[in-house]
Amino acid sequence: MSALALPLAAVFVITVLSAALHELGHVAVAKAVHGKMHGLVWRWYGVGCRLEVRKEKLWLVALGGLTASGLLALLFLAFAGPFARFGFTLNAVVVFSNLVPHPALDGGYILRHFRR
Ligand SMILES: [Zn+2]
Repeated sequence: MSALALPLAAVFVITVLSAALHELGHVAVAKAVHGKMHGLVWRWYGVGCRLEVRKEKLWLVALGGLTASGLLALLFLAFAGPFARFGFTLNAVVVFSNLVPHPALDGGYILRHFRR
C-alpha cells in the first residue's frame, strides 16, 4: 500500500463527513420548521439535499448548514495534528464561502430574507 493511501483516505473521510454534516444541518432545521426532504441531488459543488420548505423559512434552513459546519470547525480545533487542521480549514472555508451572497449559496438565502 502506498504511503499516501492512509492520509488520502483520512482526507476523503473528513471531506465526505463534513459535507454530510453540513447537509444534515439543513435537514434538521427543515424538519424543525415542518419541511420535507425529498432525497439527495448532485450540484456543481457536490451533493445537496432536495428540501421542501416554506419560502419564509429558507434562510433558517440555510443557517442550519452553516451552523453545522461552524460547529464542526470548532470541534476540529479541539484536536491537534494535520487531519484536525485539515478538518478545521475545510469547514471554515465551507462556512465563509457559503456566506457569499450568491443566490445559490446559503448566504444568498439569508441575504434575501433580510432584504425583504
Ligand atoms: Zn449549505
